[in-house]
Amino acid sequence: MTTPDTKNEIKPASAFDAALHCKCPKCRKGDMFKQSSLGFFNQKMHTYCPYCHFQFEMEPGYFYVAMFVSYGMIVAEMITTAVGTYALTQSESPWLYIGLLLGVTLLLSPFNFRYSRVILLYWLTPKLHYDPERAKKPYDEQ
Ligand SMILES: [Zn+2]
Repeated sequence: MTTPDTKNEIKPASAFDAALHCKCPKCRKGDMFKQSSLGFFNQKMHTYCPYCHFQFEMEPGYFYVAMFVSYGMIVAEMITTAVGTYALTQSESPWLYIGLLLGVTLLLSPFNFRYSRVILLYWLTPKLHYDPERAKKPYDEQ
């Protein structure tokens, strides 16, 4: 049984789903990035959430911490690539591994850039939580 008020409310996206689509951690509606994830050179981030006007870089230099997240992601990707390459080819040529690891790191750099910031904002910032009040109305209509 539902009341008329809750009947028309749209259920908010889960944190994982919103993070996967790079949505604002406060409202889970506005996009964090200006372009799609497929752009290799145009990974630009909005300063403020286009929906709720939350400032993504909460203090100057906040995204420097994302470098450490990105470092962890790159190490995990390199280990996975090296172990997978060895399992498939049984090769011991260092040039194969150097070429593959550099290629994988370069190809995944837009992914790492985006998701290191998403992981930082969603799961490594203790004072930042989803706010259902911000998700109700866009900032310019309040
Ligand atoms: Zn927002």
